Amino acid sequence: MRIEDVLRNKGAAVTTIAPQTPVSQLLAGLVGMNIGAMVVVGVDGLVGIVSERDVVRKLHERGASLLVQPVSEIMTTVVVTCTPRDTVDQLAVLMTDNRVRHVPVLDEDRLVGIVSIGDVVKSRMSELETEQKQL
Ligand code: AMP
Repeated sequence: MRIEDVLRNKGAAVTTIAPQTPVSQLLAGLVGMNIGAMVVVGVDGLVGIVSERDVVRKLHERGASLLVQPVSEIMTTVVVTCTPRDTVDQLAVLMTDNRVRHVPVLDEDRLVGIVSIGDVVKSRMSELETEQKQL
């Protein structure tokens, strides 16, 4: 199965956030939308990714003053991405090798989706179910 198939099922919506947004608003968004990460998009496009893990680590380091600081202070700027043509198996390897659970999908520099480790597991489970039914 390819990433484009996963996106066909789950949709292309990607929740993004601007780099200057305060961390408190990021937290409200993550909780409100029940998601674990947001793609950080500036005027020139993708500039980073920020996950709940960044908030936990930096809160521990810096304390509550972190909440008024901008997302750019805690985001990861070297973003691991994939394309719609990659396979789910390739993505699973990419996630494992880079220890990340969220990967934005880029089609010639255009953000066309995001795939989480939960989506990878779900797709693998449905493949296994299909295989079992065929046995
Ligand atoms: P996660 O596993 O998504 O909660 O993220 C764990 C750490 O990896 C955090 O520091 C994130 O900012 C970072 N991270 C998450 N996804 C990516 C990605 N696709 N590329 C680079 N870093 C990422």
